[in-house]
Amino acid sequence: MKFKINEIFDSIQGEGLFVGTPMNFIRFCSCNLKCNWCDTDFHDGREMGLGDVLKKLNKAWAWVSLTGGEPMLEENLKVLIDSLHENQLKILLETNATIFDEKVFERCDFISADIKPPSSGNSVWDSKVMEYCFRNPGKSQLKIVIQNRGDVKFFQEVCQKDYPNWILQPEFNAMRKLDYGKILNLIPENVRIIPQVHRIMGVR
Ligand code: SF4
Repeated sequence: MKFKINEIFDSIQGEGLFVGTPMNFIRFCSCNLKCNWCDTDFHDGREMGLGDVLKKLNKAWAWVSLTGGEPMLEENLKVLIDSLHENQLKILLETNATIFDEKVFERCDFISADIKPPSSGNSVWDSKVMEYCFRNPGKSQLKIVIQNRGDVKFFQEVCQKDYPNWILQPEFNAMRKLDYGKILNLIPENVRIIPQVHRIMGVR
């Protein structure tokens, strides 16, 4: 069994509720979206067997982020997750929210679902992903990149006020141009605005 992998590395989680946490990252190749502001070069990659993947991981860190590209496109993801768990590792799935598979989601310790706003150029998602997060607030976050007022308006439309883990992530190049005073007046208090900390620190 082979996995198509762009890179495996350990670093600091720079996004969302886990910000600052050292963890492993398994970045898969290919994505089913093409966001305008995508900062990921996920096209190159190589096929790796399960044993090679496990050998590359830093076992000092408890968490493994499955990221991309879009990890949900990987056909043998369940097998990989089960093997990581057998190695006492916890799974953070970072997905673009367009593909739902309850069996995969149930296996993961935490789901980070990116709901793409209008500035991405492809504001699509599977509503079952969002509903899963609403049903499982203890193991999920819903993240929306904001580049402009249109994205904030989009967030206001999809926001459910009783869900506790909304993250607004300023798009990196627009980060210093956003008017946070105005944005704060538009959003409920259960929202956290968190930039990409790893990029500020200059780590990948
Ligand atoms: S979903 Fe993520 S990896 Fe895919 S194109 Fe958009 S930003 Fe890039």
